[in-house]
Amino acid sequence: MIDFEIPEEARAIRNKVRDFVQNECIPAEETCTADNFETTLASLRQKARGQGLWCPFIPEEHGGMGLRPLANALVQMELGESFLGALSLNTQGPDDATMLTLLEHGTDDQKERFLKPLLEGHKRICYSMTEKAAGADATGMQTTAVLDGDNYVLNGEKWFSSSASVADIAVVMAKTDPEAPRHQQYSTFIVELPNPGYKILRNIETMQPHTELGLKLGGSHSEIAIDNLVVPQDNLLGGRGNGFNMGQHRLAYGRLRHGMHNVAMAQRALDLAAGHVVDRVTFGERLADRQGVRWMLADCAAEIYKARLMLLHIAYKAEEGMDLRQENGIAKVFLANMVHQVVDTALQLHGALGYSTDTPLARWYTGIRSQRLVDGPDEVHRWRTGANVIRAYEKYGTTASACGGELFD
Ligand SMILES: Cc1cc2nc3c(=O)[nH]c(=O)nc-3n(C[C@H](O)[C@H](O)[C@H](O)COP(=O)(O)OP(=O)(O)OC[C@H]3O[C@@H](n4cnc5c(N)ncnc54)[C@H](O)[C@@H]3O)c2cc1C
Repeated sequence: MIDFEIPEEARAIRNKVRDFVQNECIPAEETCTADNFETTLASLRQKARGQGLWCPFIPEEHGGMGLRPLANALVQMELGESFLGALSLNTQGPDDATMLTLLEHGTDDQKERFLKPLLEGHKRICYSMTEKAAGADATGMQTTAVLDGDNYVLNGEKWFSSSASVADIAVVMAKTDPEAPRHQQYSTFIVELPNPGYKILRNIETMQPHTELGLKLGGSHSEIAIDNLVVPQDNLLGGRGNGFNMGQHRLAYGRLRHGMHNVAMAQRALDLAAGHVVDRVTFGERLADRQGVRWMLADCAAEIYKARLMLLHIAYKAEEGMDLRQENGIAKVFLANMVHQVVDTALQLHGALGYSTDTPLARWYTGIRSQRLVDGPDEVHRWRTGANVIRAYEKYGTTASACGGELFD
C-alpha cells in the first residue's frame, strides 16, 4: 500500500517550524544587517531553542531533536525559505553534514572537543577537500600528510572551502598513503583555527556579490595555503585511509539538504510571483489572468511537485534503510535545476523589480547557480546515473529499478 499520510508527529513539528520561519525568520530578514547579525541570530536561536527547535536530525542524547529522515526533510523544506532559517536551528551547511561525520566517526575525545561546541552553536566548521588540482574527481587531490613523531604535517592547497573565514575548525583531507588503492590514499584531519599552517589567502570573489552580511552568514569560499600544518595524531578522523569514503558519506546528506532548501526557496519564489501577478495590471488586465502567465506558474508548480515527491520518496527509502544512491543522484541534479527554473520565472514575472534587490529573487538567482556545481557537478551525477541505468538493464532486462520503479531483487 502506498501511504502519503504524513504521521501526526512529523506534521506537528513541520507546522511548528513553518510558523517559526514565517513569523520570526522572514520578518527578521528585513532588519538584519552586518552590524546586528550576531544579536539577531542570537535572539532567533534563543527563541528556537525555547520552542525545542534545534539541530533537527541530531539524536536527542546529543541535544538535537532526533528527527527521522521524513520529519527532517519536511522541516528542511520549510527552513530554506529564509536565509536565517537553517542558521536559527543550527542546521546550516556545511556544519550540519560535518556534525554527522563527527557523530559517526569521531572518537569520544573528538566528540567532546569538537562536536559538542558545534552542537551548542558556539563554533562553526568548514570542509576543505577541493583543490585547484582536483574537484569533481577528488581522488586527484595533491595535499599530503606525513607522520612526524606524534603529529602529521600537511602541505598543499585548498580552494572553495565554504565558510572557512567564519570557521573555528576545519576538516581537511590529505594524502597519507600514496601507494594504497586510489580510494584509500586519503585521510581526514580536524584542524583547530586560526592556525598558521592553514592560511586563508583570499575569500574568492564569485558571481554572487560579496556583502558584509553575506560574509558573516558564512557565504564566502576561501582559497587556502596549507603550509607545514601540524596536526596531532589524535585529530585524525575515522582512521587512516578512510577520508575518501567518509567524505562521500558526508556529501550524500549535504546534497539532499541543499535540495530540501531548494524546494523551500522555489516555493517562496512562486509565492512571491503569485503575489505579484495578482496585483500587477498591464494592458488593462491582471497578469494573473493571462494564459501565458498561468502556464509559467503551472510549469513551476509541476517542478516543485516533482521535487517534493522525489524528496519524500528518498526520505521513505532512508527510513527503511534502503539503498538510495541512484535516487539521490537523480534528485541532486533535478532539484538544482528546478530551483533555477522557478526562481528565474519568478524574477521574470516581477520585471525590473525582480532584477532589483528589493526582493530576494536577484540574490537567490546568483546564489543558486552554484547548485549545479557543488557536491558534484550535474554531468558527473548524470554520468553515474546513466551507468546505473545500463547496469539495471543488463541485470534485469528493464531499467525500472534505476528510475524509481519497482525493484527486481
Ligand atoms: C559555491 C561553491 C561552494 C563550494 N564549497 C566547497 C566546500 O565547502 N568544500 C570543498 O571541498 N569544495 C567546495 N566546492 C567545490 C566543489 O565541490 C567543486 O567545484 C566541484 O566538485 C567541481 O569540481 P571543479 O570545480 O574542480 O570542476 P572540475 O572537476 O574541473 O569539472 C569541471 C566541469 O567538467 C565537467 N565534468 C567533470 N567531470 C566530468 C565527467 N566525469 N563527465 C562529464 N563531465 C564532467 C563538469 O561540467 C564540471 O562542472 C564548492 C564549489 C562551489 C561553486
